[in-house]
Amino acid sequence: MEILLPLLYLLAAAGFILALKWMSSPATARRGVLAGELGMLLAVVGTLLRFEVVEYQWILIAFFIGAAIGTPLAYLMPMTAVPQRTAISHAFGALASALIGTAEFYRHTPEQITMAALALEIMLGFLTFTASLMAFGKLQEILPTRPMTYRGQNIVNLLVFAAAAVLGILLIVSPEQRWMFPFFAGLSLLFGVLLIVPIGGADMPTVIALLNSYAGLSASAMGFALDNKLLIVAGALDGSSGFILAVIMCKAMNRSFSNVLFGAFGQLQTSTAKTTERPVRSAVAEEAAYLLESARNVIVIPGYGMAVAQAQHKLRELADALGKRGVNVRFAIHPVAGRMPGHMNVLLAEADVPYDKLVEMDEINPEFPMADVALVIGANDVVNPAAKNDPTSPIAGMPILNAYQARTVMVIKRSMNPGFAGIDNDLYYMENTLMLFGDAKVFVGEIVKHLSASAKAA
Ligand code: NAP
Repeated sequence: MEILLPLLYLLAAAGFILALKWMSSPATARRGVLAGELGMLLAVVGTLLRFEVVEYQWILIAFFIGAAIGTPLAYLMPMTAVPQRTAISHAFGALASALIGTAEFYRHTPEQITMAALALEIMLGFLTFTASLMAFGKLQEILPTRPMTYRGQNIVNLLVFAAAAVLGILLIVSPEQRWMFPFFAGLSLLFGVLLIVPIGGADMPTVIALLNSYAGLSASAMGFALDNKLLIVAGALDGSSGFILAVIMCKAMNRSFSNVLFGAFGQLQTSTAKTTERPVRSAVAEEAAYLLESARNVIVIPGYGMAVAQAQHKLRELADALGKRGVNVRFAIHPVAGRMPGHMNVLLAEADVPYDKLVEMDEINPEFPMADVALVIGANDVVNPAAKNDPTSPIAGMPILNAYQARTVMVIKRSMNPGFAGIDNDLYYMENTLMLFGDAKVFVGEIVKHLSASAKAA
């Protein structure tokens, strides 16, 4: 056992690291998921072998309850609901961590060093639990998605956090003062709720990445408290990857952490969402089909609307039909297109779009001046030139896909309504832009029909 256990843990840690590495590319992502699952299996087996007496009946009951909730959750939740599914998973994970910490505290009065790890674990666990539940509620629109703000909010939040932290420190100094524990736990739970109240629903994916990081740190602290090295490693990997993801998302939106956490972004979205009364040129599917088949270079820009309409399969048919005619079709991927990291990659992979046709923003941007058509499908903010031209815009400084540089821009969306940032888009009013009004899936389907009709006629 002295050799087997460290070996199992080492293999499990390797599985987690490989999982993170492989999941960073769509080509190896499935392998990454498998490596993570295998790592977790080894971790569970290793942990069970650690104890001489294990009451397996309880473990099996927990296993079946977890599987009964988790399996339908994985299969029934649509792709567009993945952010809230992730939030609820974090809530469960963080609750587990906090409850284990609570049990450890009450089982035996811990020494001060252990208590320090436990206090961190319990505080992060409980606040991540309620914050993740709030994030779930906002994303699922059970709770109002707009940021709720009031005067002095940050001070109130800070005071609640400080009170929880002071109680945590007092518990570390005198762990036998058990009466403080419920207050400590209660304030941590309350802080989780208050943390999310001023944040708009659409900022939740970034916040979830950050909460992921907190849950990881809580697990890591639990590893110290329980003397479980694998938990320390796994928690640290979770904590750092969640943090890095949140940083990447903030950078791609040109926002700071404090702006996401305290900026109440999206507050005025519904009240000031303005679209100006300027003329736009629109076209029907037949004209769009004609322009596309006459092109040599087409860059498709998918966005949130493609996800809502589930247009990815039709889009693949369109790309195939154009490819057969010798048109070079590529997909430009903006890092924050859609509502979660990798949203477009996952949907296009689901529709079997070859990975080499997906091109990242920095690589595709120099190609737009050579593109005959930029076909924007349900994307808005990620192609809005205001990010470059208007320093007062809420998205000023956000890197965009330079669709406006293409010879012709075609935009499929249902109306002139704005997107996530709630602002008008000058791209729609440009001379070389054609608006293709309609649901993305239906419209792309019509274009495909016209293309196959013209192929038959030829
Ligand atoms: P967007 O700016 O939100 O625009 C989406 C557009 O899709 C809307 O203008 C909407 O117009 C259209 N649409 C909705 N349903 C449609 C349908 N069924 N058929 C056709 N069009 C439809 O999306 P985006 O350009 O992808 O930009 C993403 C935004 O989300 C960015 O501002 C980003 O900062 C933010 N964000 C992203 C993440 C992330 O991780 N990816 C996280 C947080 C925030 P109509 O209503 O007129 O159809």
